[in-house]
Amino acid sequence: MIDANPYRPAGYNDATSVLVVGGSLVGLSMATFLAWHDVPVILVERHPGTSPHPRAVGYTPRTMELLRSVGIQDQIPEVPADFTLLRARVESLTGQWFGEPEWRSDQVDMILPDYSISRGATIAQDGMEPILRRRALELGADIRSNTELLSFCQHDDGVTVSVRPRDGVPYTIETRYLVAADGASSGIRDALGIARQGHGCVRTVRSVLFRAPLDAYLKHGVSQYEIEQPDLKAFLTDYHDGRWALMFTDDLERNEAELRAAIDLAIGQSGLPVDIIASGTWELGALVAERFSSGDVFLIGDAAHALPPVRGGFGANTGMADAHNLAWKLGAVLAGTSTPELLDSYDQERRPVAWQRHQQMFARPDYQAAAQGGVAAGIAADGPLVEDLAMEFGQLYASDIIIGADEDLPLALTPEEWAGQPGTRAPHLWLSREDKTISTLDLFGRPWVLLAMSDDWRDAVEDAVDELGTPLVCVHVGSDVRADDDANFRRAFGLGRTGASLVRPDGYIAWRSADLPLDPSETLADVLAVTSCADVD
Ligand SMILES: Cc1cc2nc3c(=O)[nH]c(=O)nc-3n(C[C@H](O)[C@H](O)[C@H](O)COP(=O)(O)OP(=O)(O)OC[C@H]3O[C@@H](n4cnc5c(N)ncnc54)[C@H](O)[C@@H]3O)c2cc1C
Repeated sequence: MIDANPYRPAGYNDATSVLVVGGSLVGLSMATFLAWHDVPVILVERHPGTSPHPRAVGYTPRTMELLRSVGIQDQIPEVPADFTLLRARVESLTGQWFGEPEWRSDQVDMILPDYSISRGATIAQDGMEPILRRRALELGADIRSNTELLSFCQHDDGVTVSVRPRDGVPYTIETRYLVAADGASSGIRDALGIARQGHGCVRTVRSVLFRAPLDAYLKHGVSQYEIEQPDLKAFLTDYHDGRWALMFTDDLERNEAELRAAIDLAIGQSGLPVDIIASGTWELGALVAERFSSGDVFLIGDAAHALPPVRGGFGANTGMADAHNLAWKLGAVLAGTSTPELLDSYDQERRPVAWQRHQQMFARPDYQAAAQGGVAAGIAADGPLVEDLAMEFGQLYASDIIIGADEDLPLALTPEEWAGQPGTRAPHLWLSREDKTISTLDLFGRPWVLLAMSDDWRDAVEDAVDELGTPLVCVHVGSDVRADDDANFRRAFGLGRTGASLVRPDGYIAWRSADLPLDPSETLADVLAVTSCADVD
């Protein structure tokens, strides 16, 4: 059990700006995003490396945009342009098919060419994690495997953490901020006394992971199967690398011979060379922490929200987006360009997203039946279904640092419906810069960007940078970059002929002005003081 020790251990052996606990998908994403913002970061993970279980396999276009922004999209095979993930209800792989495939991936929005420069990706989590780890190391993150967090103590200057290397002597690390990416049963969350709300355990899944030569059965293009036989009800899924997982609907414990028999039943044929890799039990839980931070400690990923896999990829993808939201904020505060109040927006922005995803999960067919058991937790099986496009690209942040968004607005709409609404992701549009075609998304990442329809904003940007020190660049649409169609660009961002849109390092719109105000310098300085928590003293 992790101890939130009220007494700071004497002495220290090491120091960093941010310590991340947990080196799985979300912790590694956090280390990568932080290192990309030049933040000194140490990550500790109690295991020697990546868990051998493939776990999450579907990454959405928005996640791929985030990975593209740190230069690793090319290492992750995108789904082909004609990709359609199909699921079918069958007796077995070789047996009777009960009608046409039940659903197609275009309902899951792995490919949204009009909305993103990136397509989704299907790569098993144990393939994705090494890519993230390599990039984090390249960027300078200090990753310490086989190292466990034992206790932590918050004080005026940050957090003192006690860690123990496997077979080694415990030592302390002084860190300004501590990030808990320690999974659904987060010891850090428990030590902070942060409760969770939501449905709770949806069900316990027993599964077996195996390797078998089944490519011949993928010829229909279907890679997920609901197996229905009198003696076997299960879900069979392909990891696209020769590995398959069979997840049982029942809760029976099976020995190896029984697992093999079940695999044969699912295939509909015995005698194939089946190599069992692992079997285990996995609790499908749906719970969201009541706070995503406490003092200088932040919860991300499953530590903040356990969301079972669902069409639309709410689980792992939501955690990676938490990391992206928090990394630039920690970077700005540590660089001294923002006050620590900026960090309050992490909980304000990410917790409503997690809760909406929790509710949307139960509004979707996969978990509708389970929702019946969650009425006590305020879960409505017939709650309004928000379309995937809105969930993927149109979730609203209505925090204190967004000007022009409040909680009366819907939590998610499509990019067209938002039309550049502050608090939403800046839309992807094609632009030309010199002789190259780029996306608007290529403009965002490290500094803040003022996308200006008039060149008259330039002086205001210079004045604001001089006055506040916020890293901000002006991009004039018309000379620095050119839109294919100015009217379309203005419509997508909700701007008039002389307006401007202020975009944060994470690609979210913080504020916009439909036209040039009377005093652009004063207006912009006032706006940045709020949106970037710039230190005005
Ligand atoms: C069988 C299975 C299938 C899944 N399938 C999908 C799917 O299809 N789609 C999807 O979106 N999601 C899926 N998930 C969920 C997905 O894997 C998680 O959402 C994702 O792993 C969350 O990542 P995380 O980094 O937040 O937490 P975790 O992956 O749980 O990682 C937490 C890490 O913290 C480390 N840690 C904990 N305590 C300490 C400590 N004190 N000191 C040091 N290290 C510590 C742990 O060793 C672990 O490596 C699946 C999960 C399982 C188990």
